[in-house]
Amino acid sequence: MEKLPLEQLNERIIKALEASQDGVGVYDQNDIMVFCNDTVGRILGYEASEAIGRSFEENLRHSWATGAGVIADDGDVDGMVRRAMESMKTQGFSTFESERHHGEWTQVSRVRTEDGCTFMYSTDITKLKNTEKSLREALRYVKKLAATDSLTGISNRRHFMEQANKEFNRSKRYGHALSILALDIDHFKSINDNYGHQGGDKVLEAISECCQAQLRASDIFGRLGGEEFSILLPETNQALASVMAQKILEAVAALRVEYEDKSIAFTTSIGVAEFSHSGATLEALMQFSDQALYKAKHNGRNRLEVYSKTSMT
Ligand code: GH3
Ligand code: MG
Ligand code: MG
Repeated sequence: MEKLPLEQLNERIIKALEASQDGVGVYDQNDIMVFCNDTVGRILGYEASEAIGRSFEENLRHSWATGAGVIADDGDVDGMVRRAMESMKTQGFSTFESERHHGEWTQVSRVRTEDGCTFMYSTDITKLKNTEKSLREALRYVKKLAATDSLTGISNRRHFMEQANKEFNRSKRYGHALSILALDIDHFKSINDNYGHQGGDKVLEAISECCQAQLRASDIFGRLGGEEFSILLPETNQALASVMAQKILEAVAALRVEYEDKSIAFTTSIGVAEFSHSGATLEALMQFSDQALYKAKHNGRNRLEVYSKTSMT
C-alpha cells in the first residue's frame, strides 16, 4: 500500500480532531490558543474559531462568564484562574477531572512540552460521574438497610454491637464511665395474645420511638431481637444510668398505643450494669445487665435493678 504524503496525513488528522466529540486544544509558548475543535469552542462558550488567537486566561474567564465552562469554588473566579494558570506551567503529562456548569464533567489530559506549548485533550465523563454518584448513593442506602431493624427503624443487633464495641473500647482506653441498660417488655406474649401480632408490632415501634426520645445523640440504642433492646450510655455512671432507666420506665408506662379502637398500655423492665474497668468485655457487661434485668422481672416487673457482683448470686 502506498504511504500518504505527510502533509495529507496531517490534514486528515486535523480533520478528524476537528470533528471529534472529545475536546482538543493547543496553546503556544505565550499561552495563546492556536488550535481547537468545536467541542473545546463550546466548553469555552464560543464558536470554535472565536477561541483561537485568545489567551488561556481570556478563554478561561469567558468560559466562566458565559456559564459554559468550569465552576469556580465560592464564585472566586480570580482564584480559579490563578490556580489554573499556575497548573498550566506543570511540565510533562498531567490529568485531572473538572466539573462544569449544568452538572457536566470532563476529564482533561494535558501535555506541556519543554518549549512551553500546551496540548489539551478533554473527554466528557458526565455519564461515568453520574453512575459513580448513583452507586455511592445505592451503597449508602444498602449500608443503612443492613444496619437497621426494619420494623422499628433503630439499629439491629449487628450494628448495635459494632457501635457499642467502638464506644466500649474508647471508654476502656480513656478510663471513662459507661453503662448498659437491658430492656425487655413485660408480658409481651399476652400483648400478642390479646391484640394480635400486629398489635404487638405497634407496641415495638412505640417503645423504640419512646426510648429514642429520652436518649442523647451519643447514646447507642438497638433492638437485639424480639422485644429485647439494649442501650449503651457513654460517660454515664451507675447512678446516672439508673436515673435514665427510671425516666424510660415512667415514659413507657405512660404510653398508650392506639390500635384498632383499642388503647394498649404496657410496661418494661430494665437491668443496669456499669463498666467497672476491671478487665470485663462488652459481652460480659451485657450479660451483667441481663442478670439485673432478670432480677427486675423476678422482683415484680415495671422496675429497674442494678447489677452488683454481690447481690446477683
Ligand atoms: P416477660 O415479662 O417475662 O418478659 O414475659 P414475655 O411475655 O415478654 O416473655 P418473652 O420474652 O418470652 O416473650 C417474647 C415474645 O415476643 C414471644 C414472641 O412471640 C414475641 N415476639 C418476638 N418477636 C416479635 C415481633 O417481631 N413481633 C411481635 N409482635 N412479637 C414478637
Ligand atoms: Mg424477652
Ligand atoms: Mg418480655
